Amino acid sequence: MRKQIIAGNWKMHTNIAEATILVEGIKEALAKTEVDREVVVCPPFTGLSTVADLIDETSIGLGAQNMYFEPSGAYTGEVSPLMLTDVGCHYVILGHSERRQYFGETDALINQKIKAAFTYDLVPILCVGESLAQREANETQAFIDSQLTAGLADLTAEQVSQMVIAYEPIWAIGTGKTATAEQAGEVCTAIRAKVASLFDAATAEAIRIQYGGSVKGSNAQEILSQPDIDGALVGGAALKAEDFMAIITA
Ligand code: 13P
Repeated sequence: MRKQIIAGNWKMHTNIAEATILVEGIKEALAKTEVDREVVVCPPFTGLSTVADLIDETSIGLGAQNMYFEPSGAYTGEVSPLMLTDVGCHYVILGHSERRQYFGETDALINQKIKAAFTYDLVPILCVGESLAQREANETQAFIDSQLTAGLADLTAEQVSQMVIAYEPIWAIGTGKTATAEQAGEVCTAIRAKVASLFDAATAEAIRIQYGGSVKGSNAQEILSQPDIDGALVGGAALKAEDFMAIITA
C-alpha cells in the first residue's frame, strides 16, 4: 500500500524569518492532527539548515528543489548531493519544469542528477509534464513517455520503486487552472503503465506518483482520491501553513 506524500515546493520564496513562521505553523497544526500522509517541505537552499533544525524530531521530511550531480568540485554556484544530505535532506526535486524552461535542463542532465541522488542516498522527486500546446496537439502521453524513458535511463527497478514522480502539467502551474481530477488521474495511470513497461509491474505498483499544478484545499480531496495519484506537489498553497494543512487533511 502506497503512503500518500504531500510536498511543499516553496520555490524562490521565504527568507529565514518567513520560513521559520511557516514551518512552525505546519508543525503546530500537525501536532494536533492525525494524518496518514507523509508531509515534506522543500525550502530554498538558504532556508534548509534553519528548517532542518525546526523539524528535527517531527515526522516532517525535508527536501531540496535542485542539486548538481557531482559530490564536490569547482562548480561555482552549485550545491551537491552530499551537501544536501549533510544539512538533513531526504528528498530532492529534480527536473521541475521551471528548471527545464528557465535554466535549460535537459532530460540527460536530469538523468545524471537522479543517478547521483541515489548514489548519495537522496530520494528524487522527478517532475514531468506537458505544455498547453502539447496537450492541445494530443502529444501529452508521447511527451511524458519520452521524459520518463530518458529520465529513468540506467536506473534499477529497485531504485525506481523508491522514487517519486510528480506529474505537473506546465499549463496548470501557478495559473489557477488545475487539471480536472480525471485528467490528472488519467495521466498518472499512464505514467504507472509506462513505468511497468520500462521496468516491471511490481515497480510500477510501488512507485509514488504525485500531481502538481494549482492544488489547493478546495480541489485536493478530489485529486487525491484518484487511484493512481499518491500525493501532491504544491507550490503557491504551500506558502501558508493554513493552506498547506487544508491539502494535507483533505
Ligand atoms: P502551484 O501549486 O503554485 O501551481 O505550483 C505547482 C508546482 O510547480 C509545484 O512544484
